[in-house]
Amino acid sequence: MSDADRQTTGSSGHGQRVAVVGAGMAGITCTRSLVRAGRSVTLIDKARGPGGRMSTRRTEHGAIDHGAQYFTARNPRFREEVNAWIADGVVQEWHGPLATIGSDGLMMIRGDNRRFVGVPRMSALTRHLSASCKTLFNWRVARIERHGTDWWLHEERGARLGPFDLVVVAVPAPQAIPLLQGAPSLAMRARSAVLAGCYAVMLVYDERLPLPFDGAFVNRGPLSWIARNSSKPGREGAETWVLHASPDWSEAHIEEPPDQVIPMLLAAFAEAVNAKLPQPLLAVAHRWRHALPINLLEEPCLFDPELAIGACGDWCGGPRVEGAYLSGAALADLVIAHRDQPAG
Ligand SMILES: Cc1cc2nc3c(=O)[nH]c(=O)nc-3n(C[C@H](O)[C@H](O)[C@H](O)COP(=O)(O)OP(=O)(O)OC[C@H]3O[C@@H](n4cnc5c(N)ncnc54)[C@H](O)[C@@H]3O)c2cc1C
Repeated sequence: MSDADRQTTGSSGHGQRVAVVGAGMAGITCTRSLVRAGRSVTLIDKARGPGGRMSTRRTEHGAIDHGAQYFTARNPRFREEVNAWIADGVVQEWHGPLATIGSDGLMMIRGDNRRFVGVPRMSALTRHLSASCKTLFNWRVARIERHGTDWWLHEERGARLGPFDLVVVAVPAPQAIPLLQGAPSLAMRARSAVLAGCYAVMLVYDERLPLPFDGAFVNRGPLSWIARNSSKPGREGAETWVLHASPDWSEAHIEEPPDQVIPMLLAAFAEAVNAKLPQPLLAVAHRWRHALPINLLEEPCLFDPELAIGACGDWCGGPRVEGAYLSGAALADLVIAHRDQPAG
């Protein structure tokens, strides 16, 4: 087998070889459910590892969660799963005091939702969940083509992977559209989902910032969220903070190089907390082009059983980590139900 042409080998008891493109929470959840149901699944991602928007940036001063900050669990199915992750030691509740900052100033939030984080970093959760999956990283899928009843995945540099009986596209909607060209009706539905960008700035300080909260929802100025990353359970090392710019501000500056937004967002941080802050030891910016769904599909996932292709992600299931999980789980349920239904 040449390096440019990887063939999937082995088939499960169901004889179904599945490719899942995207190793974020949606793709990992779908993969795990399908593997449990006996499918032979390859989970593929363009990044060096799993996690997607639940990633963590490693710095010389410690790791900083620069995407999803925490997650809540409202749906019973997801709550049960979160309890299992807590029992596995990869998730803990974050008890840091939270506040809102708006035109009326700062107000502490008392006793609302339980908030969960991966430990010792957000990405530890997705790493744990994908550890038992067959994975292929550093592999950016450029095209998905159907030959007869087989699907083949093509990389930009010419390599191809397959054949597969079924493909799941678990990437943000704008990136899913070109991959769904073989299923135009799904591509068309994906077009109606809109995701806004987000600039994240990660900061390291050599002293504790004297602020009365560990996280704050900011409702004025360029920022929407600020958090003391080092206050989350299991984090070690220096005082670290994360700033997230609001969707409107991020979209207005989306073409600016990430380094150029740092001084603007540092100034917004000082302005939001109404304090003179020390110079950070380190400031790193990251641009998320497709961060948060602001217009979602109503259906929890997309599936074309005839073509054997589906799509899932937070842009269908509901925004955020819980929605991504539920979308991946819903698509796996449909695939399993379709394949297992008796022939008519
Ligand atoms: C800044 C920010 C803050 C957030 N805060 C929160 C929060 O506090 N709470 C919360 O619940 N949620 C939050 N979210 C949202 C949450 O992170 C997402 O809803 C969830 O992680 C989405 O999971 P997903 O699997 O749908 O997509 P993703 O995590 O985006 O996974 C998609 C994967 O597909 C891969 N991929 C894309 N294109 C290709 C390709 N062509 N070939 C191969 N691989 C490809 C990507 O590398 C990625 O790993 C936040 C997100 C961001 C960006």
